[in-house]
Amino acid sequence: MEAREVGPLSFVDVAPLALDRFERVLTPEQEQELLRMVARGRVLLEGRVVWSVNSTAHGGGVAEMLQSLIAYARGGGVDARWAVIGGEPDFFRVTKRIHNRLHGYAGDGGPLGEHERAIYDESMAVNAERLASHVQAGDIVLLHDPQTAGLVDAMKTAGAHVVWRAHVGLDSPNDQARDAWRFLLPYVSGADGYVFSRRGFAWEGLDQSRLTIIPPSIDPFSPKNQDLDPDTVRSILHVIGLQRRNGGAPVVTCHDGSSRVVERHAELVEEEPLPEGAPIVTQVSRWDRLKDPIGVMEGFVAHVVPVTDAHLVLAGPETRAVADDPEGAEVLRLCVDRWHGLAPEVRRRVHLAMLPMADGDENAAMVNALQRSAAVVVQKSIAEGFGLTVSEAMWKARPVVASRVGGIQDQIVDGQSGRLVEPTDLESFGAAVAELLLDHEVADHMGKAAMERVRMDFLGARHLGQWVDLFDRVIAATEAVS
Ligand code: UDP
Repeated sequence: MEAREVGPLSFVDVAPLALDRFERVLTPEQEQELLRMVARGRVLLEGRVVWSVNSTAHGGGVAEMLQSLIAYARGGGVDARWAVIGGEPDFFRVTKRIHNRLHGYAGDGGPLGEHERAIYDESMAVNAERLASHVQAGDIVLLHDPQTAGLVDAMKTAGAHVVWRAHVGLDSPNDQARDAWRFLLPYVSGADGYVFSRRGFAWEGLDQSRLTIIPPSIDPFSPKNQDLDPDTVRSILHVIGLQRRNGGAPVVTCHDGSSRVVERHAELVEEEPLPEGAPIVTQVSRWDRLKDPIGVMEGFVAHVVPVTDAHLVLAGPETRAVADDPEGAEVLRLCVDRWHGLAPEVRRRVHLAMLPMADGDENAAMVNALQRSAAVVVQKSIAEGFGLTVSEAMWKARPVVASRVGGIQDQIVDGQSGRLVEPTDLESFGAAVAELLLDHEVADHMGKAAMERVRMDFLGARHLGQWVDLFDRVIAATEAVS
């Protein structure tokens, strides 16, 4: 994957991926459905470009998904392309504020008024002009998240079918969320279709007939999710710097079929590497308050450390790497401060890893190894659109303890394919983690059930099928009128 700068807007080259590899993971019924969908999609999208537009090529769930879905769409014969908008730091401060509010939180507490609208409109206008020079009438433009909502009108004017997709939301809207909706609604409402990850996320005031629910998905063959043998896992942890003893070769297979050797160290905050054989509890997330890394640390220290010999690994990207996430560095600093404040005998049980993001495949391999090495994966988010990290861990047959928020509730059936806990209840969180660490039989059973759940509902093939259905409806609705 390579991002080419074109002024404020860039295009990401994505190599096609053949869809037939899904044979290895789908049930026969799912496979038949996939074949039907590919045939239908090819006819429907002949002569059209399907554009996906978001605000970062690396880091976060949306970029992760687009990389795979666009590659498979291309492999299925569709001219799918990816554009990444650019913007000044002020623009991303405004969109981060909107993002936090859509989750129901005040974020930095600043306003969303006329000044912010002017900042937003200015960045959007520059991006719109660039993008419009590439988009043809009849194309499909999929705009992702608040950062791109301001492009709807310009893309409609260019003659495209425009769908806006929200990846965040909250189940019971509050004033913060309504504030963000008010800001975004004038941009979004003109789209031909709106997509939300869950029914409960759909905003008041949108035309219900244009609404579609599509949960996210993972790619089982990506460097992030592909099978890794225990030796490879060990060797990747060794390269990261978390484990002393080496395993085999730290090699994964990239999207394009080539091999990638994992070679960069992570920046670590720890007393010493993980002890041999210690059970590991892991959360992988951007450094974001809503992922509550400090709560994970507190819950682990208070309720897991006293009853097990487990170690906690909190992993996330190097903070300078995620362009549209200006708060990351500060949250990481707070985590490091909290870590320094722990008593020394407890501190050695907690490890912070800032993973290099210079190479997407290498970073993904690290996340893969970290999730696979965990006895229990946690995702203690305060709010969550979907939480791809949950499906990623479930696909690896890990037992997951996660907050009962947003799309996490659609992935985990509590007590069967993982454990759901209230997001601020550190005691229940710690108790669920400790129970799974201590009862291997339950943990094993839950992990296997988790993998099956992802196979049935959260792999990319299902997602692509839903896109084809949606495009079919949108094209039929708009081209019938004209
Ligand atoms: N991720 C990653 N490297 C990191 C931290 C996170 O690749 O250092 C990935 C993670 O594996 C997942 C995505 O970023 O695929 C996060 O998606 P999720 O839906 O969990 O949360 P978001 O960041 O979109 O809020």
